[in-house]
Amino acid sequence: MSISIWQKDHREQELAYDAVVVGGGIVGCSTAYWLHRRQPSLRIAILEAHTLGAGASGRNAGFILQGGQADYLSDVTQYGEQTARRLWHFTRANRDLLRSELHGSAFGWRSDGSLTVAGSAEEDERLRASLSHLRSAGAPVVYLEPDQVNARLEATAFHGGLFMTTGATVDPLRLVRHIAERSGADVHTQQPVERVRWHGDNGAVLDTPELRFGARRVVLALGASLPSLVPSLSDTVRPVRAQMLATAPTDTTHIPVPVYSHHGGFYTRQLGDGRVLVGGGRHQHKEAEETSTEAVTPAVQASIERYLHRHFPWTQSLSIQQRWSGTMGFSPDGRPVVGRVPDHPESTFATGFTGHGMGYGFRMGQLLADLTCGTTQPEGIDLFAVSRFDDLEAATPSTTRQTAGH
Ligand SMILES: Cc1cc2nc3c(=O)[nH]c(=O)nc-3n(C[C@H](O)[C@H](O)[C@H](O)COP(=O)(O)OP(=O)(O)OC[C@H]3O[C@@H](n4cnc5c(N)ncnc54)[C@H](O)[C@@H]3O)c2cc1C
Repeated sequence: MSISIWQKDHREQELAYDAVVVGGGIVGCSTAYWLHRRQPSLRIAILEAHTLGAGASGRNAGFILQGGQADYLSDVTQYGEQTARRLWHFTRANRDLLRSELHGSAFGWRSDGSLTVAGSAEEDERLRASLSHLRSAGAPVVYLEPDQVNARLEATAFHGGLFMTTGATVDPLRLVRHIAERSGADVHTQQPVERVRWHGDNGAVLDTPELRFGARRVVLALGASLPSLVPSLSDTVRPVRAQMLATAPTDTTHIPVPVYSHHGGFYTRQLGDGRVLVGGGRHQHKEAEETSTEAVTPAVQASIERYLHRHFPWTQSLSIQQRWSGTMGFSPDGRPVVGRVPDHPESTFATGFTGHGMGYGFRMGQLLADLTCGTTQPEGIDLFAVSRFDDLEAATPSTTRQTAGH
C-alpha cells in the first residue's frame, strides 16, 4: 500500500517512552504493571497488533493452576526434584500475587481449588506417585478415590484424582484488561510492530504501519510471534493451536472446580451462569494442530465433544453455543523462555509458556520487569533462562513429553 505525505509526516513524529512493551497479552500487560510498580515515573507504552487479549490470553480456559505440567511426577522426572519444586512455587506465587495485588471481582476470580483427574489406570498411578513429591514440596493436595472424583463431578469413568486447594479460575480477558488499566501505561491497540531498529545504548525505534515509537528499553511479549521480530530466537518457540467450546447454560452446578484430565489433554470448567467450557483433544490430532492458523476443525471439535459426553453424560442434552481456537507458543522443553534480546541487553523477552501462561504470567511480568530494570539475576531467572538452549540438541523436544498442556 502507498503512503501519503500526511501519513508519512504523522508516522515520523516519534512517540518517546522509557519502556515499550510489545504484545498486549497476560505477559506484556503484567510486565507493564510491574515496571510501573518498580518505577512509577517511567513512561511506558503497550503496543498491541489487535486489541488487548486478542491472542491466547483472551482465548483460554482461565485456569490458574500450579505446577508446570498435568502430573507433577513428569516435572520431577524431566527437571529434577529441586527444579520441579521451584517451578511449583513460582506458579503458586503467581496465584498469590493475582489475589493480593488485584481486585478479583473485576475479573471473576474464584479460588475453590482444582482437580487433576486420571483418564486411565496408568494415569491414576502417576497421580498417586506424584502425591508424596507434591506434599514434600508443600503443596496443599489430597488424593481422591475414583468414586469420590466421579461423585464430586457428576462424572463417569474417571479414575482417581488430586484435589489442590489453591487452584483458581478467572475471566482471562477481563484480567488482562484490569492489569493494563492498572499499569499506568499508554495502550496503543491496532499497532502491529513491523520493525524494530536497535540503536545500542540509545534504545530502539519501533515502526507500526501508522506510528513510530522510540524507547530506551523494549520488552517483547509476543507469544508465538516472537521470531517475527527477532528471527534469531526462532528455535525457542513454535506455534501450536488449541481449541475449545462452550455449551448452553444448565440450571445446576455440576462441576464445582476446574478439571484437568488425560495428562492435560482435556480441561473442563463450569461458569457461574451454568455454561460448560471444555477444551483440548490436541493430543489426538498432534500434527494438524502444529499451526498458527486460527480455525476450529471438525476433527478436534468432535474429540472434545466425545470426551465431554462420555465423562459428563448430563451434557449430552446441552447445545454447543460457541467454538474457538487460539495459538500458543511452545518451548522446546515445556518451560517458558526468558532473556535479554541478543546483542541488545537493555531489552528483554518472554515466550514459550507451553499452554500454561495464565499459571505463570503475572509473576513472570514481575520477573521480566526486574530484568528490564537492570537486575542481573532476578529470583527465578535460572529456571527460564534462554541460555539453557545454548546446546539445543540437549533439550527434550516438547512433542515427546508425556503431557499435552492446554
Ligand atoms: C484455547 C486455549 C486454552 C488455554 N487455557 C489455558 C488455561 O486455562 N490456563 C493457562 O495457564 N493457560 C492456558 N492457555 C495458554 C495461555 O493462554 C497462554 O500461555 C498465554 O495466554 C500466553 O500469554 P502471552 O502474553 O505470552 O501471549 P499472547 O496472549 O498470545 O499475547 C501476545 C500478544 O502479542 C500481540 N502481537 C503479536 N505480534 C505483534 C506485533 N508484531 N506487534 C504488536 N503486537 C503483537 C498479539 O496480538 C497478542 O495479543 C490456553 C491457550 C489457549 C489457546
